[in-house]
Formats: sequence, structure tokens, C-alpha cells
Amino acid sequence: MKVTVLVGGVGGARLLLGARELFGRTPFPDSGDHPGGAHTVTAIVNVGDDAWMHGVRITPDLDTCMYTLGGGIDEERAWGRRDETWHAKEELAAYGADPDWFGLGDRDLATHLIRTQMLEAGYRLTDVTAALCRRWDPGVRLLPVTDERHETHVVITPPESPDGAQRAIHFQEWWVRYRAQVPTTGFAQVGGGSSGRGEPAQLTPEAAAAIAEADVIIFAPSNPVVSVGAILSVGGVRAALRTASAPIVGISPVIDNKPLRGMADECLTVIGVATTAEAIAAHYGARSKAGLLDGWLIADGDTAEVDGIAIGTAPLLMTDPSATAAMIRAACALVGVDTPAEGA
Ligand code: GDP
Ligand code: CA
Repeated sequence: MKVTVLVGGVGGARLLLGARELFGRTPFPDSGDHPGGAHTVTAIVNVGDDAWMHGVRITPDLDTCMYTLGGGIDEERAWGRRDETWHAKEELAAYGADPDWFGLGDRDLATHLIRTQMLEAGYRLTDVTAALCRRWDPGVRLLPVTDERHETHVVITPPESPDGAQRAIHFQEWWVRYRAQVPTTGFAQVGGGSSGRGEPAQLTPEAAAAIAEADVIIFAPSNPVVSVGAILSVGGVRAALRTASAPIVGISPVIDNKPLRGMADECLTVIGVATTAEAIAAHYGARSKAGLLDGWLIADGDTAEVDGIAIGTAPLLMTDPSATAAMIRAACALVGVDTPAEGA
């Protein structure tokens, strides 16, 4: 069985821990030494948070997935490396180097240095990610949705702006520096077209195949705007999903009509969508009506009704991989897809 999941960072990584529990390990990169299980889990990962900082390329959501699945994550922070130190950051601050608000750990920096060298040598982000995963052995295929730049920027009115002039800043600056507490008008994707003809970034052939060949496609309970939304805005993604033969089921990122952690509330407000299970489902839309979803799994106790989308309820707290596996099983069942028996 082929399972394809659209994911962001923290929520996405937790979902993948459950998927690995349910479907078993997927050898990645496929070196040929392991036999390979009966099932394949492929994550199509958001790159909207990616940025250049101090000359290195940062890919926060790919790294959160890789470190979480590979056992290297700082569990408390839920991003970056465990046992991290911050000497490089302190030294950069002593030089007055910008940006001074971004946490770049020493261990993490090694990952970014390797990534940057490989990108500068001409490798695609898809191949760089596979190379880094040789060390981390995540047990899930991790694919960036695109190899091109597709950064989420945010249009704000900075507090220090004398005439109320608007400015676009990187999503990381909006979230980490301003904590989203600044007048905000909207989001925009920046980058794309290595062709230079002003085309948007395009889906990679690997991600396109993972959508076309899937038996089930799952939207993780990731941020609907800056994680799943940023994936959906990559050229070719919506069309690939709409023509995929597999059913598409989403898992709600809100419980009790509140997002759990992260910034879904702030982001949804900016685009004028209420932070409720129903409003998010309506925002994705029913596949039968030019949208994307066949099914939408919401938390026990929440309610939603959207024409054309099958709604199911289940416990949605991803407390540990087995609870998350049960949640994924319920999501698959909602769209008529059988999952392996417990412990298979
Ligand atoms: P980020 O890139 O690190 O912000 O992570 P994601 O976009 O992948 O996930 C953030 C979203 O995950 C938040 O909007 C949360 O509401 C949601 N989330 C986090 N933990 C849980 C959980 O246990 N259950 C559910 N249903 N959603 C969760
Ligand atoms: Ca993210």
C-alpha cells in the first residue's frame, strides 16, 4: 500500500511517527540493503518556511521531520537538535550580524552547512534531503514539494513604520521576531521559476509520482495556511491532487475549535477563515466541487458539515505514535481504505 502525506513541521512530524508505527518503516533513501516493507509512506513536505540565514540555507519543516523521525529532535522545543549549544549564534551576535532574532544552534548548523554546500554544487533539494537522511534513517520517504524557492512572505505594517507603510517580510521574521503580533494583511509566496519566466515553483517529479501512485492521500493536521496551504500553492499540486485516483482525507488541526500549538489561529485570521473544524474543511473544499477533500476527520466533540465531504470523528490528540496510528486508521477508514492490522 502506498500512503502519501502532506506535512508541515511539528504537527506533520508527529503524524509521520504514527504513520511509521501503523505502516512500518519505509527504507529511505532506498539503499537496497534492507528488504523493504509491504507499505510505503511518503511525506510531501512544506518548503515555505525555508530561508537563507547567515549564508546557509535553512529548511525548518524538512529538518523537524528528519530530526523527529531520526531521534535527534529536542523534544521540549519540538524543533532543532537535542543537546544543542549556541556558541555560533552568540559569536554572530557579538559581530552585530543580522538577523539576530533567529536561533541557529551549533549542531543544527552542521546540517545547514552540508545542505548549502550540496545545493551550491548543483544538487536538487530532493537529493540533498535524501543524502542527509542517510544519517538519520527516518523510516519514511521525505520529499520537498518543490526543488525551487517557494518562500512564504507576510505583508505587514511594521510598528516602527512612521507613515504606516506596508512591507513584506519572511514568514520566519513574522513568527519568530514579531510573534505574529503586528498588523498583517496577507501572505504571498516568493521565488519560483528557475526558468526565470515568472512561473511559480513547480512540483518535483518525485512528489508528482507520490500523488499519482498513492492508494490514500492524507493532509496532516498541519497549519492549513503556511504548511498545507503553502504546499498547495506550488505549481501542479492542486491539479495532481484533483486527478489522483486515491481518496484524499484531511485531519483537523483544531480540537475543541482551538489549534493545539503553533500558529494556525493567527494565520487563519489573516486569510479570513475561522479557526473551526468546519471552516477549515470548507476552505480546502470538497473534491466533488472543485476543492480537494473526500473526507475530513475532526476531533470527538467538534462538529462540521460540508457538502460533498465525508466527516468522521476520532480522538485527534497525537500524544504518542500508537494514538496517532489509531487516528490515521480512522482517517483511512473514513474514505474506505483498509489499514494493516494492529502490530502488523
Ligand atoms: P509547524 O510547521 O511546526 O508549525 O507545524 P505544522 O504546520 O505541521 O503543525 C502545526 C499544527 O499542528 C498546529 O496548527 C496545531 O493545531 C496542529 N497540531 C499540533 N499537535 C496536534 C495534535 O496532537 N493533534 C492535532 N489534531 N493537531 C495538532
Ligand atoms: Ca513550519
